[in-house]
Amino acid sequence: MLDPGRTVAELRELQELTGDENGAQRVAWTDTWQRAREWLGGKLDGTRAEEKVDAAGNQWFTLPGDSERALLIGGHIDSVPNGGWLDGALNVMAGVEVLRRIAEERTPSVTVRLVNWADEEGARFGRSLFGSSAAAGSMADQDELRKRKDAEGVSLPDAIARFDVDLDTALEARSELENAAAYLELHIEQGPVLEALDLPLGVVLGTYGVERHQVTFRGQAAHAGSTPMDKRRDALAGAARLELEIREIAKRIGGGAVCTIGGVVTKPGIVTSVVETAECLLDQRHLDAVQLAEMLSNAEAASRRFAEDENIEVEWEWIWNIEPILFDERLIELADESIREVAGSSHRLPSGPLHDAAEVARAGVPTVMLFVQSLRGLSHTKLEDTKEEHLELAVQALDRLADKTLAMLGGEA
Ligand SMILES: [Zn+2]
Repeated sequence: MLDPGRTVAELRELQELTGDENGAQRVAWTDTWQRAREWLGGKLDGTRAEEKVDAAGNQWFTLPGDSERALLIGGHIDSVPNGGWLDGALNVMAGVEVLRRIAEERTPSVTVRLVNWADEEGARFGRSLFGSSAAAGSMADQDELRKRKDAEGVSLPDAIARFDVDLDTALEARSELENAAAYLELHIEQGPVLEALDLPLGVVLGTYGVERHQVTFRGQAAHAGSTPMDKRRDALAGAARLELEIREIAKRIGGGAVCTIGGVVTKPGIVTSVVETAECLLDQRHLDAVQLAEMLSNAEAASRRFAEDENIEVEWEWIWNIEPILFDERLIELADESIREVAGSSHRLPSGPLHDAAEVARAGVPTVMLFVQSLRGLSHTKLEDTKEEHLELAVQALDRLADKTLAMLGGEA
């Protein structure tokens, strides 16, 4: 029988085992992470689940069913340094509970697999979604990853070699998704939307597409005392106007659009000089690819307009982008039903952060995520929290969703 209270107790046990007064310390490719993985394996002793670790370090627990087609439930037990007790771990531990419940019953119609993805956070080497991108086959930056080092100077290849993972063979993890028929992931929202609506749970429609650019305005450094206001070519004026304009762009486009200038570096950066260069880091996100492109071109046009007004120059440099990834319509329906059954009402929302689920969806596996409310919207800090009653509802909703998905996949066989 499903015991959601047990999930909460086990999450506390994990925090006790792998956290300290500053929060969770389960950074991937460390001894503490390994301790968490071994502890996780112990939690599934007594079920018929078979454990294996794939070529990218992902830990799999497989409960064989009548068919080789597989329902996957996933999460990540790694955390950021001084992280919260729920990010990633909730997904894994709720999955453990669902697997136990299914294992107690007759052999499922399709195989059920729990996956603990390796290094979702990228906290040590700055590369998120390591294990899931290898399994999805979208990892293509091996040569760049070879050069990465952590703060202590340990290289990524050396750190992962301790766990028998090699960049040259990591992509062999792709074979794990061959029979995948559906992928489910529960996660804390890490934002304030569900709390503001006073709802415990929501269905995630997909993950935002992201456009990241550096926008550099160039003017002329000049003495702050001797240069009249109307003779200045002030690069910071362009940056300041763009910062305010992106709010208007996001408002105009709507549909959950978000735009951020996360940093501005000015040079020479002294109190006695007009700013010569202002480098802005711009991040734009939307669930709709067309709207995202529109946001980007609006920001570009606005920056050129401001540059002309201020008699300065502007230059754009691409940093990184990813297209929006939409989750599966049928699974979204089932997730909605599951949430309504356990919590009365549901809500559909996009995900701002990327998750392993995005990689799995990108690989063509029908995917959906559930979000459970985060208190104060906080995450990646020891202050991260969710009401216990909501955690228990989340385990129940994931269990219902797993059941409905199994019925759907069984019916197709
Ligand atoms: Zn996470």
